[in-house]
Amino acid sequence: MPAADPPPDWDAIVIGGGPAGSSAATTLARSGKRVLVLEKARFPRFHIGESLLPYNRRVFDQLGVWPKIAAAGFMVKRGAQFWMGDASRHTRLDFSKGSFTEFPESIQVERATFDQILLDHARSCGAQVLEETLALDHQVDATGVTVRHRGPDGLEHSSRAAFLIDASGLSNHTANLADLRDDYPGHRKIALFAHFSGVDMPAGEEHGDILIVRREQSWFWLIPLADDKTSVGLVLDLQDFKNLRMKPEQVFEEAVRSTPAVAMRFSRAEPLHAPRVTVDFSYRNRSLVSPRVVRVGDAAGFIDPIFSSGVMLAMSSGVDGALAAARAIDAGQPMTRALRRYEKNTWRDVGLYWRFIRRFYQLHFAQLFFQPVNKHRMVCAIQSVLAGRSRPPLAVRWRLHAFFLLVRLQKHLPVVERIRIG
Ligand SMILES: Cc1cc2nc3c(=O)[nH]c(=O)nc-3n(C[C@H](O)[C@H](O)[C@H](O)COP(=O)(O)OP(=O)(O)OC[C@H]3O[C@@H](n4cnc5c(N)ncnc54)[C@H](O)[C@@H]3O)c2cc1C
Repeated sequence: MPAADPPPDWDAIVIGGGPAGSSAATTLARSGKRVLVLEKARFPRFHIGESLLPYNRRVFDQLGVWPKIAAAGFMVKRGAQFWMGDASRHTRLDFSKGSFTEFPESIQVERATFDQILLDHARSCGAQVLEETLALDHQVDATGVTVRHRGPDGLEHSSRAAFLIDASGLSNHTANLADLRDDYPGHRKIALFAHFSGVDMPAGEEHGDILIVRREQSWFWLIPLADDKTSVGLVLDLQDFKNLRMKPEQVFEEAVRSTPAVAMRFSRAEPLHAPRVTVDFSYRNRSLVSPRVVRVGDAAGFIDPIFSSGVMLAMSSGVDGALAAARAIDAGQPMTRALRRYEKNTWRDVGLYWRFIRRFYQLHFAQLFFQPVNKHRMVCAIQSVLAGRSRPPLAVRWRLHAFFLLVRLQKHLPVVERIRIG
């Protein structure tokens, strides 16, 4: 008779200690599960993804971590401003004003500090965290999953659990091993970004706002992290970047210079470090669950940072994926209907933002977006989704349908003035 597989040491192993992994680990630990987190970096570590959405607050409360985040004193974000590159127009979403938005504000975060708070919170709830530990591969069998990992001692070890939660971010660890990644056609982007001092950001009521500056085929973000520290990034098509045949810093500087809405804020700006680059970050995995394996956060898929939905979706999928896994662990099942439902709901949440993101790059959508018409509270409905209300009620859904209908109409009849974008 073959030897039986050893019993699992853990209920769940989580790969990755970013927002999705910490949220999953906290959820599992708070439901009494034994959780091991494998994180390849040593925290605190730099990470991009600094502007959060008001509905993130709902997940903070679910995890019981809000008091720790509030105590850290992050920059308060009350609005999002969308500017035309030539500075001729802008529109502001004030989160306190939308009639379908329950949370009036959010925060801008330095991810090194924010991610450390979330990971320490998972620890304080009972999760064991191994930093500087790289997950290598895993094997699923009848009674559990064995994960091979390499620690700071350079040696390989194995750990066994009933379930594996993949929260490895853009490393997309388990899905890449299983060849499950699909790219969004026509959406290959590159982001160039750095922190700056001396950027002239809005003051008063608008202090703390994120600015999104739309150029013809690309866009900038400006995120105030502290009174004299602003994160500035440029997102453009990978092919356009290659065609320019310039170094990333030259492309960035030239884009700042030729974009009045950014240049007017940059007269005193100084970079605090060399620019960083992230390439080709948009994809979707064909499957988010398989027996004993659940993918959450960016390891489920990531689209585009334009509407700052990444961290909110990562954390909520971390919680939802962990709850579904916890139920499967209790039932002693490798695959359940709740896991399938998690997959379906996560795709639906991501799909809602994809609908906006895909169109943001299209002329007719941008024309309506920059000339908002709040007829029948349509702008309020859009605002609630862009505030992170990923599962909107019917009152919001029909208004969104009406808005997208107007976008289609704008192609043929001018619903609003057909302005040039950029
Ligand atoms: C250019 C850009 C700008 C963005 N801006 C925003 C924004 O303004 N607001 C927003 O909400 N989102 C933004 N995002 C998205 C946001 O960064 C992500 O959605 C978010 O970080 C996802 O969290 P996560 O926990 O899934 O992944 P991550 O935060 O990437 O965490 C994954 C963790 O897994 C670890 N890991 C990876 N592989 C392994 C392995 N094999 N073994 C062990 N550990 C491993 C990594 O070290 C990492 O700590 C942006 C993304 C990009 C690309």
